[in-house]
Amino acid sequence: MAASPAKELRIAIVGGGVCGLMCAIALAKNGITAQLYEAAAKFGEIGAGIGINPNAVRILRDIGVLNDVLAKTGSNRPNRTGWMQFRSGMQDSELVYDYTTLPGQESIGIHRAAFLDALVQHIDLKSCHFNKRCIRVSESPLSTNGNSELTIHFADSTSAEADVVLGADGIKSAVRPFVTGASTAEHVKFSNTICYRGLVPTEQAKSAGMRLDFSDRPMCFLGQDKHVIAFSIKGGHIINVVAFVSDRTVPMGEAQLPPGQPAVVPVPREQLMKEYEGWGSDVLALLSCIDKPDKWNIHVVYPPLQSYVKGRVALFGDAAHAMLPHLGAGSGQGLEDAHLLAKLLAHPQTSGENIETILQVYDEIRRPRTQSVWEGSMRAGEIYEGYGISGSSREGLRKDLEDLPEFVWIRELNQDMQDATARLQQLGVFTNED
Ligand SMILES: Cc1cc2nc3c(=O)[nH]c(=O)nc-3n(C[C@H](O)[C@H](O)[C@H](O)COP(=O)(O)OP(=O)(O)OC[C@H]3O[C@@H](n4cnc5c(N)ncnc54)[C@H](O)[C@@H]3O)c2cc1C
Repeated sequence: MAASPAKELRIAIVGGGVCGLMCAIALAKNGITAQLYEAAAKFGEIGAGIGINPNAVRILRDIGVLNDVLAKTGSNRPNRTGWMQFRSGMQDSELVYDYTTLPGQESIGIHRAAFLDALVQHIDLKSCHFNKRCIRVSESPLSTNGNSELTIHFADSTSAEADVVLGADGIKSAVRPFVTGASTAEHVKFSNTICYRGLVPTEQAKSAGMRLDFSDRPMCFLGQDKHVIAFSIKGGHIINVVAFVSDRTVPMGEAQLPPGQPAVVPVPREQLMKEYEGWGSDVLALLSCIDKPDKWNIHVVYPPLQSYVKGRVALFGDAAHAMLPHLGAGSGQGLEDAHLLAKLLAHPQTSGENIETILQVYDEIRRPRTQSVWEGSMRAGEIYEGYGISGSSREGLRKDLEDLPEFVWIRELNQDMQDATARLQQLGVFTNED
């Protein structure tokens, strides 16, 4: 395509979840307006909490949205000082491992809708297009002057043209088939893990007999093939609860849900209580307060994609690497992707002429990182549920838990951009001038 500075490129983002929004905001802060196409009628998130871990907090700060996110938590600083306290899920709730903080590591527990609200304040709604469900992306053939155009086709029979398409449309991404050449079914698999989610008023949990305090940091209750995560949101008034159940009798990717079964279904509380029969009184007290649990059939991107990029189309967030949630790292990885994409697109040496190589380098840097976090999340679930390599004794658990999340968190903010710049200089795409 013709040489044009990046600021003249028409950049489209498909999907306005946290990752798509953050990419659009980061670009806008660098003077680049991307057009954002969202399937829903407005920005929205599910009624649940989310943990934003240290690597993601650093990105929020760098992009300039952290204070607004914190304001939604009613605080002016990240509200957690450590990662998780791991306890037995059985009667005594015995402490197994306490992941206290390391210097500079801070994280946030927040309601998802509040998180999204904080981000939306930073976006110009004139560049956001709602009720635009992408059904596919196509590329017009190259013309004699070397130009080609990407077209995003929507379910309402309209379409939009772009020079660069960034797919952040989540696990069922309609952009992904353009990149992979494969159908959604080939890369989206049931993870053999389900979870029950609910929000519980802290006072209600106490009245039901819950003795533990979640205000300082999340807790993970460990058990065989099951575990429960609980953390405070809304200034400590609400506890976000997620109770997981896994089936390891079949390898990942082999179990199929009955056709047409939705990913999320409301279930009676009795079903949840039955799953956790025999567990300790703290866990049971917490679960008994979930009024109407939602059962999630967790899907993941599997097998991993060979590339996140084809030509001038790139995937990021769950569209590229939806993972099990056991490290609370999924959106954090998507934010790392968004951060790098925005920095690369805003670089003064990026142009229409070199954009394809630049996106290839994005893929080279982000794919190994996100896929290792994908594997780490799987490993974390195995440890929590009795299948860690050191076994399920207290000592074995402690050994396996000790270093688990560090590789996710301890990441220099600009590490990816430094690596990408070095690679682009090596390829002769960037010079040392900027
Ligand atoms: C139980 C559970 C707990 C989790 N806990 C955490 C946690 O604590 N911390 C963490 O970091 N991560 C967590 N995650 C992972 C996290 O939720 C995801 O990684 C994150 O939401 C992905 O964001 P995204 O923007 O890529 O995708 P999504 O949030 O799925 O957003 C996709 C957006 O695209 C839109 N869209 C979809 N299809 C189309 C289309 N065809 N055309 C246009 N728009 C479209 C959707 O409406 C949506 O707005 C958890 C996941 C689960 C299942």
